[in-house]
Amino acid sequence: MILGQIVIERIVESICAEFDPLSFFPGTTPDDWVRHRGWMLQQPQALEPVSGNLVLSIQAFLVRTRRHTILIDTCVGNHKPRPLRPFWNLQRLNTFLPRLAAAGVSPESVDYVMCTHLHGDHVGWNTQLRDGRWVPTFANARYIFGRQEWESLQALHRTVPQPHLVDSVLPVIEAGQAQLVSNDFALDDEVWLELTPGHTPGHVSIHLASQGAEAVITGDCIHSPVQCLEPAWIMRADADPELAKTTRLNFLERYSDSKVLVCASHFPQPSFGRVVRRDQAFAFNFSV
Ligand SMILES: [Zn+2]
Repeated sequence: MILGQIVIERIVESICAEFDPLSFFPGTTPDDWVRHRGWMLQQPQALEPVSGNLVLSIQAFLVRTRRHTILIDTCVGNHKPRPLRPFWNLQRLNTFLPRLAAAGVSPESVDYVMCTHLHGDHVGWNTQLRDGRWVPTFANARYIFGRQEWESLQALHRTVPQPHLVDSVLPVIEAGQAQLVSNDFALDDEVWLELTPGHTPGHVSIHLASQGAEAVITGDCIHSPVQCLEPAWIMRADADPELAKTTRLNFLERYSDSKVLVCASHFPQPSFGRVVRRDQAFAFNFSV
């Protein structure tokens, strides 16, 4: 995607069809899904036709501005112990770095890594296993982490151990490559954070602007296009469900029928599109 003088590309690690809709959105009933199954089975498929599971992209956005090469969210990663997620546990996929290379970007040439939040499917390639140790994958990058996000992850880790803190976040901090920032941090006049809390306390979306064109990378303030039509549907990992719902409604209100390109982190490919108003809610018009 071209946005003024910015180029945005998706770097897909995997297409995940492992989550049952009723458990992913625990407040929903089979009846709630009846009116959505038809459109969600059409292209781009947001439901997998055989299993009926949600189709979620696990991907990063590669953002190249005139000044910087930026990688936003880094997927699940390889060799990471994730005992609670069998399909991500000790994953070994030969997709992420090769696709980054195919886009013309070596790990050494990434200037910034930014994480919308510090969940395991957004921090994985922050590090890789080398000689038995977790080391930053992007040797020359500064990693932009929200300070509030880091503090809340540490607090959570004290009561419930968070393996991704140990293998994907802490090694970056220990290497001195992390920059802990406030929730209104701006990298420059083309890239800045936009607080979208609820999924996690310090969750941010990332706003991009160039020559009058604008885009926003959602992160996990919305997970599936069905939430445009059903903004009140709560995703099971939302830390503060009510705040997540309010944030999502505000986000959809703000960007509906606007020129702003929405880069929806977990939406099925092509993942880019625009939010439009429809009836009492919204819909997502995918860009072709
Ligand atoms: Zn996620």
